[in-house]
Amino acid sequence: MNSDLRLIDTFGRLHTDLRISVTDRCNIRCFYCMPNENVVFKAREELLTFEEIERFVRVVARLGVSKLRLTGGEPLVRRELDQLVARLVQVPGIDDIALTTNGILLAEQAAALRTAGLKRLNISLDALDPEMFRRIARRDGLEQVLAGIAEAQRVGFDKIKLNAVAIRGLTESQILPLGRFARERGLELRFIEFMPLDAEQHWTDEQVLSGSDILNRLAEAFGPLEPITPGHPGQPASDYRFIDGGGLVGFINPVSQPFCESCNRLRLTAEGQVRNCLFSQEEWDARTLLRNGGSDDELEQLVRSSVSAKRAGHGINTAEFYRPERAMFQIGG
Ligand code: SAM
Ligand code: SF4
Repeated sequence: MNSDLRLIDTFGRLHTDLRISVTDRCNIRCFYCMPNENVVFKAREELLTFEEIERFVRVVARLGVSKLRLTGGEPLVRRELDQLVARLVQVPGIDDIALTTNGILLAEQAAALRTAGLKRLNISLDALDPEMFRRIARRDGLEQVLAGIAEAQRVGFDKIKLNAVAIRGLTESQILPLGRFARERGLELRFIEFMPLDAEQHWTDEQVLSGSDILNRLAEAFGPLEPITPGHPGQPASDYRFIDGGGLVGFINPVSQPFCESCNRLRLTAEGQVRNCLFSQEEWDARTLLRNGGSDDELEQLVRSSVSAKRAGHGINTAEFYRPERAMFQIGG
């Protein structure tokens, strides 16, 4: 691609990743993300169609975006998601498509997604104890998630990661069972710090269970881990490997060790708003352009405006921090 077209912000950060939310709906109600009851979802016609998403991706791919992640809400509740994957794998310049899912509907969709060209999966799993799963998700579903993981392994995804949100005072008991589960199945495990993006706004910094605490517990139980040099710039996780060959563990520590300095991500919400950060207060309306005859150049300018306005960091630990109005499920995690 022409390097003059690249999306570089005022801090010199190059943007090559796009997270696309395909729905704000979900089949469970994790307390760190959604309200438990009476959730107001966007009407179907407000969501971008697959054609609109593809057009947006074609525009940003010309500007150097090469990696996509589909997310939500729960992306697998959007019907025929494999058809979106099949469209996006064909866009010139896109060389990597991944999906983040809670895994509940994965057993029935894994094969179709794999056939459509999806290579990488992140499956969220915070607890292996059914009671703890229910406390967090406020719905049942552990068995389906485990079946989804097994099926995803069976159909041969290149890479499957397990994502666990770590919450101090709640999920400590799950760390070792998750470690054992991942080691036994050859899955990479990632712990994510709880961020202030819960719809019910109950987050406090005391609930953040930091990566270093978890690392110590894993090392005590399974033996030492050693750090791995990051595979590419902008990689938010600090990755470690068990020195006994038992696999990889990553830590995404947006609160205790923000990685804003090397952030290379943009986001497109399910209803077609561009965001330059999870914690952005502002959105850029791509849907209106997509639906009202906007040109590719206009879409490009919109994306450039968003990139230019990106702040240095989220500032969670500062007095100036203020939460975005939208919660995680409405932005796309
Ligand atoms: N529904 C899918 C899932 O849960 O994997 C995709 C969307 S979800 C919003 C994406 C990821 O964000 C999940 O791994 C979830 O655990 C994580 N997440 C949600 N709310 C969070 C929060 N407040 N802090 C940290 N991670 C969060
Ligand atoms: Fe649903 Fe994912 Fe949010 Fe949990 S984290 S409520 S699975 S969107």
